[in-house]
Amino acid sequence: MREWRRHHPMTEEERFRDRARSYAGVYKRRGHLIQEPCRVCGSEDSQMHHPDYHQPLYVIWLCAWCHRKLHEGIDDAEYQERIKKLREIVDKIKD
Ligand SMILES: [Zn+2]
Ligand SMILES: [Zn+2]
Repeated sequence: MREWRRHHPMTEEERFRDRARSYAGVYKRRGHLIQEPCRVCGSEDSQMHHPDYHQPLYVIWLCAWCHRKLHEGIDDAEYQERIKKLREIVDKIKD
């Protein structure tokens, strides 16, 4: 792994992402970040999404499926509607 890293250095963006995830992980373990249900579908099995990796403690909880959809793009109308609302929520929190 170390050898591989030497030849494939992390980009700035990847470093930010990595750091944001570990920060958030520590905060969660200490009980400062409370797990919430998926913001899109309400599933309890949620994970952290970082809308802005420069703000590691700013997380949106999404289930694995919705999370993947958010990153991959959307292919069905109902989901598109939900994700639009999610983006509105995310934008509002940002302001
Ligand atoms: Zn979901
Ligand atoms: Zn994400």
